[in-house]
This record gives sequence, structure tokens and C-alpha cells, in this order.
Amino acid sequence: MMKPSEPTPPAMVHNQASAIKELFTKNVIPSYGRFDIVLSHGSGSSVWSVTGQRYLDMGGGIAVCSLGHASGDITEALIEQSRKLVHISNLYYTEPQGRLARALVERIAPGKCFFANSGAEANEGLFKLARRFGNPEGRFEVLTAFNSFHGRTLAGLAATGQDKFRKGFEPITPGFRHIPFNDLAAAERALSPATAAILIEGVQGESGILPATPEYLLGLRKLCNEKNLLLLMDGVQCGHYRTGRFQSFQRILEGVPGGEGFLPDAISMAKSLGGGFPIGAFWVWEPYADILGPGTHATTFGGTPLACAVALKVLEVIERDGLAENVRKVGAFLEEELLRLSRTHPGVITAVRALGLMIGFELQPNLAAFAGSNQAASLQLVNRLHEAGLLTIPAGTQVVRLLPPLNLRIEEAREAIQIIESVISRLI
Ligand SMILES: *Cc1c(COP(=O)(O)O)cnc(C)c1O
Repeated sequence: MMKPSEPTPPAMVHNQASAIKELFTKNVIPSYGRFDIVLSHGSGSSVWSVTGQRYLDMGGGIAVCSLGHASGDITEALIEQSRKLVHISNLYYTEPQGRLARALVERIAPGKCFFANSGAEANEGLFKLARRFGNPEGRFEVLTAFNSFHGRTLAGLAATGQDKFRKGFEPITPGFRHIPFNDLAAAERALSPATAAILIEGVQGESGILPATPEYLLGLRKLCNEKNLLLLMDGVQCGHYRTGRFQSFQRILEGVPGGEGFLPDAISMAKSLGGGFPIGAFWVWEPYADILGPGTHATTFGGTPLACAVALKVLEVIERDGLAENVRKVGAFLEEELLRLSRTHPGVITAVRALGLMIGFELQPNLAAFAGSNQAASLQLVNRLHEAGLLTIPAGTQVVRLLPPLNLRIEEAREAIQIIESVISRLI
């Protein structure tokens, strides 16, 4: 395995952290609630702050840094491709985009890909596909699940099944309605003559790691076939080997009778796809792959040779280093260990949900240790884990998520568990 480049020594410039925060206060739109940590560099699954503190990064840049930080492989791919061609627009053909499209198609099923720059944009592509598909019959509506997350563009907000993200941005883009997740009968009841597609995440991420059931996936497929609807899947967070298979439905349906033949009609991707270099994509199954014909959809940056070369390298390394297997092994270890903690600390951890390296643990609603603050329990625990040197990601008010690099080592997983155990032991 190619070594990550060595971390540079931590910068110890006096008050560098407050100077950087000041730059943000004065110049950056305050749309994010940021943690009080200023990071300067990383290596593998570790990152360092400007004050020299090391953190074990179990957030992975929110399921993005699939090969960890400062991956030597990614650095090489960036350098090599940037010497040739960084960007040229989609007015021309370039080899990396064609090869990446083929690599994604090979991992899913016959079809075609479109390249964008983010998850929200990839989902926008799915919405446009659904509208073009339904348009000849006057259909346009996309059903999505409550507690889903599909991005922050206006249509993404309309698709996202959580009111809190939409507040103050009305009027909401029309054409979306929400249905309870994992409830097939509700999906069937919700159909209207205008419905063109159903969009779900294979594993709901932002709302606390909730996998779709095999019955739900197979049932939705059948329903969509019967009613001539597109079945769309948002694989932005749960895709790209995070569950131990390329797409989450492949993992969820492993060994399930009838599961082999399952296929959604289109899938959005982003996050881990570029290992940290921004790139999004969507794949469309063969029969629908030419619906978005010339002139119907475009983006200036989508699928640049640089982004595609990096994404190809990420896939190559995942295969070369057996990372799908690693995800299963290390993911199972983390899940077992968290389940152990839920048994030894039932007053803190009430549930553990995991599929590969997409892991969430749920906190007791009324933790005495958190009573003094009106901050969500998830946020309070994430802050305490920070103090102990561990980066994790809150999901909703009660769940803490682990979305580490796919090459996380078992020793690092053990270290994460030790930190979590020591922090939660001090809570009661
Ligand atoms: C992160 C995420 C998105 C949005 O991706 P961006 O790159 O932030 O636009 C969409 N869907 C899911 C499931 C996500 O986790």
C-alpha cells in the first residue's frame, strides 16, 4: 500500500487558531455551526489542529475521505493528471470521464453516467430525469421518504423529508411529497396520477443510519414496475463501498431470495467517489439512459479530467487494497464493540445501527450529564469526544455517526472505541 505522505510538523504559531476564526467571523457567511477546531493537515485517519492536537478522524469529512487524508495515491493521481489536462469543458471528449463512466457502469449494471460536482447536483439530475420521463403523460411528482436527506439546493430541500431544512425558504419547489420510510403500503397509498418516481436512500444517513429493509426494496421495485414509475436511489452517503459493497442495496439484498435481480433505475453518487476531490455522478439504467438527450442537462465543471482521474484512482485503490473486505471486517468490529458498550452503559447508548462503515449509536433521551445545556445530546457528546481526541458526526439530536475512511485499520477502530468508552464512562 502506498504510504500517506508524512504529516508536516504542527504549526505552533501563537494564536493562529483565533486569527483563522477571526477571518471566518469577518468574511465567511455564517451558515454553518462549526466546531471550535481549526485543522491544518492530516495523514491516513488522523488530522491535526493548528495548535498541534491530533484527532482520530471517524467522520471522514462526512463519508468523503474514502482513502483517508493525504493519500499518496490521490496526490500522485492529482499531480499526474494536472500535468496533462485539468479542465477543458464538456464540449469535448476526454479519456478519464469515459473510463470512469465505464467503471461505474461495470459495478452496477448496463446503463450510462452523467458527472456533476456534488451530491445535491447529482440528485438534481435524478429529478430532471424523472420529470423528462413523466413529462409526455403530464407526470412530474417524485415521492421521497420522511427523514431523508437529498441536499440543499431548492429542489433538494423539497425532496428532503425534514421540515427543519426548509424553514424560511418557502415557497417550496413543487412536485415532491413524502412517505414513511420502510413502509411499502404507505408508498402504494401515496401514489397519484402525477407520480413519476420514488426516490429513497439505501441507508438513511443524516437522520441516524437507518437501512432500507430487503422487503421494502423488493416491494418498491415491484410497485414501480407495475405503475411505470422510476425507482431512484440516493447513494451519495451510503454508496461507494461504504457498506461493504459498491452500492448499499447490493449489501442489503445479499443472500435474499429475489435480491439478485434487483436494480434501481438510477443512482446518485458523490461524497466518497472522489475521496475528497469534489465530484458527483448519477447512473441511469440502460432503457432510460438516453432520456436526457443532447441539450437537456449540462454543467461546466462536471467530469473534469482531474476529478475523474482521482475517482478512477480511488476505485483502483479500493480494489487493490481489498477495502470492501476491510469495511466489513472493521465495520463488524466497531458494531460489536458499540453493542458491548450499549450493554455495559445502557443508560447512555440505547441502540446501535450499522452497515459496514456507516455506523450510528443512539443516545438515551434524558442524559443527566447533558441536562445543563439545551444543545442536542448528539452535539454535546460529539464535543466531549473532540476533547478526548476523536472526530465523529452528529445525526439529528440523538445519534452520533461514524463514517471513517474505508481503509481504517483495526487498531484505529480500537482506539476510537477506547475513547468513546472513556468518555461515556464519565457521563454517569
Ligand atoms: C451529503 C448528502 C447529499 C448532498 O450532497 P452534497 O455534496 O452536500 O450536495 C445528498 N444526499 C445524501 C444522502 C447525502 O448524504
